[in-house]
Amino acid sequence: MHPTGDWLGPLPTWLLLWLLTVGAVVAFLWSAGRLVRLLRAGAPDPRFDRPWERLRQVVTDVLGHGRLLATRRYSGLLHLFIFWGFVILTIGTIEHFLHGLVPGAQLPLLGAWGPYRFSQDLFNVLVLVGVAMAFYQRLVLRPPRLTYNADALLILGLIGALMVTNLLAAGARIALHPLPVDGWMPVSQTIAGLLRGAPPGWQEALYRVGWWGHVLLVLGFLVYIPHSKHLHIVTAAPNVYLRSLRPKGELRPIDIERALENDEPVGVSRIEQLSWKDLLDTYSCTECGRCQAECPASLSGKELSPKYLILDLKEHLLHDEAARLLTRRSPTSGNGEAEAASGAAPGEPRRALVGEVIHDQVLWDCVTCRACMDACPVFIEHVPKIVEMRRHLVMEASRILPEWQKLFDNVEASGNPWRFPRHARADWAKGLGIPTLAERPDAEYIFWVGCAGSYDERNIKVSQALARLLERAGVSYAILGREESCTGDPVRRVGNEYLFQMQAQQNIATLQQYMPKKIVTACPHCFNTLGVEYRAFGGSFEVIHHAQLLDRLVAEGRLRPQERLAATLTYHDPCYLGRYHDIYDPPRRALEAIPGVRLTEMERHRERGFCCGAGGGHAFCEERTGRRINHLRVEQALAVQPQGVATACPYCLMMFEDGARAKEVYETLPVADVAELLERATRPAEASSAPPGARGEPSATPPTTQGEEQGAGQPLARRGPQDGS
Ligand code: SF4
Ligand code: SF4
Repeated sequence: MHPTGDWLGPLPTWLLLWLLTVGAVVAFLWSAGRLVRLLRAGAPDPRFDRPWERLRQVVTDVLGHGRLLATRRYSGLLHLFIFWGFVILTIGTIEHFLHGLVPGAQLPLLGAWGPYRFSQDLFNVLVLVGVAMAFYQRLVLRPPRLTYNADALLILGLIGALMVTNLLAAGARIALHPLPVDGWMPVSQTIAGLLRGAPPGWQEALYRVGWWGHVLLVLGFLVYIPHSKHLHIVTAAPNVYLRSLRPKGELRPIDIERALENDEPVGVSRIEQLSWKDLLDTYSCTECGRCQAECPASLSGKELSPKYLILDLKEHLLHDEAARLLTRRSPTSGNGEAEAASGAAPGEPRRALVGEVIHDQVLWDCVTCRACMDACPVFIEHVPKIVEMRRHLVMEASRILPEWQKLFDNVEASGNPWRFPRHARADWAKGLGIPTLAERPDAEYIFWVGCAGSYDERNIKVSQALARLLERAGVSYAILGREESCTGDPVRRVGNEYLFQMQAQQNIATLQQYMPKKIVTACPHCFNTLGVEYRAFGGSFEVIHHAQLLDRLVAEGRLRPQERLAATLTYHDPCYLGRYHDIYDPPRRALEAIPGVRLTEMERHRERGFCCGAGGGHAFCEERTGRRINHLRVEQALAVQPQGVATACPYCLMMFEDGARAKEVYETLPVADVAELLERATRPAEASSAPPGARGEPSATPPTTQGEEQGAGQPLARRGPQDGS
């Protein structure tokens, strides 16, 4: 018996199979070639370094489904079944085609090997289980992160049909012509047992239906894949391999001087100005919605959905712009030369990428928290794309929120976001005996205070607490005083690369003048900018976050927390400390070193932490739509009924206190920085009897902090830009 041993009219069926197979492969290759040519229209992006590290990631996150299984086990498991089923059954599919295309051919060695037969049987069933779970998820569980359309159900149906036809062909074949190796195929044997009672003509017809059905479905799938969301079957593994290995907190630097001098575009306003890897990202989206389910902007009802951002880019690339991008550049075509110099293909886009395809508000909504990127199973990079389009809005189109224009003006005029005078930057340290670098040039650490730590009354208490802790632990440190200026983090995240680079150059020159051994800061944004982003501009510094240093000082016995703080606290992970730098344990360890402190975790914590709402420049502008992100976060904290919230970022502190006021829990949900709590716990006996909240005395015990200090530390986060002038 041979599946292609018949004639269909004048054609032998094996020839028909050849024609169908060649046609489907040609159609697939044509579509794939078009997709590759579109990728080549993107901007350059070197991604082929460190191959072993890249391969390791493919092993853990593609073969092992690490990210998929780490959260949302159910969908991770169903995908694992389907994925591995496709991998293992591909061998069977090759055998299937070989058998039909070359009558009598068999896979060498494997064909009669029992364990191989068993694997085919087993994975047919596992894929069916995966498909059934996926249907259940889509039709019954219906998580909001998924897209509900006919395409997804059609694909699931096709996958199921592929398995059913495969099993049917195997069962009918066993019923007709059993082989010794069939003992390894319990499921197909069972189907064969059911068919044995049927007349041989029926068995043969079922065999052919199963065999040809499977073949036609495979070929149909091949043709359909490049046009469906299941394109990720082909692109996901390369996308994971090619993921960014640069530091997570580093945005792509631009030679801004050259760009401005040569009138080159800054940022991205056309799809082809995204890198080829950005375009590959769009092919690889599985539409799983995991990014959206973690995104604070989406969850608070904003227009931004990281999933639809990627899908809109894909739609724009494949449907609006493909014809233009695939048109060969002609040296005689209009302004082709200028366009080529800017990395843009000739011709006008059918729709404006920024404004029409991706609305300005979508770009503004992002708090750059990176939750989307950490959740994405195929390592799609959302934040760099958003910032590139923001750069266009700010630097080219001059379309910007008024608060952010004021932020730029203030940083440019006075080196801080609120236009406080530069000369007042070190006023917080007056009378505390805190040395400046000019006074202690050989200090081991520069204490980089940051704008909030220097000017915001609430965060001044954190700076003072940290200074006391450093003194107490015998750490040699000094501050820059008036010479310190905003690192430029907020303006860079908003898109003002020019102003960021001005700030960077100024700060790097100041720091290099003192050649610091190390820098310690209480601000995760300064920590990231000084330690990671300044490197691209010639500033290479060893930077430590205060939570790390305090943890170390406690471990070395240089800080001994002794005063009890009988409280259950929940720790809020700042995004630029946690997700951007994987610093989760040091602040928790420092807190747990305080006698009596118990930590309870919010549902979203560590890698799944939820932004306070201040990142990406949002500490300095109003949320115009949806709910306030910090209100959501306070609700998440309240859900675990803590007696206080601890954090390690000045902006998180402001946002939490602001949220606590709005939720009317300011008195009952005190918020404190790790340094404040540790300072209180290590205070010498006579000092700790001083009333908490006295000016210059950070109150570290959460239940008393706000009650006694309300009004003393009004957050600056939402102050008007002129407040400091
Ligand atoms: S970075 Fe945060 S706010 Fe921005 S899209 Fe991703 S999850 Fe949403
Ligand atoms: S971007 Fe990533 S996480 Fe978001 S829907 Fe696509 S594959 Fe899923």
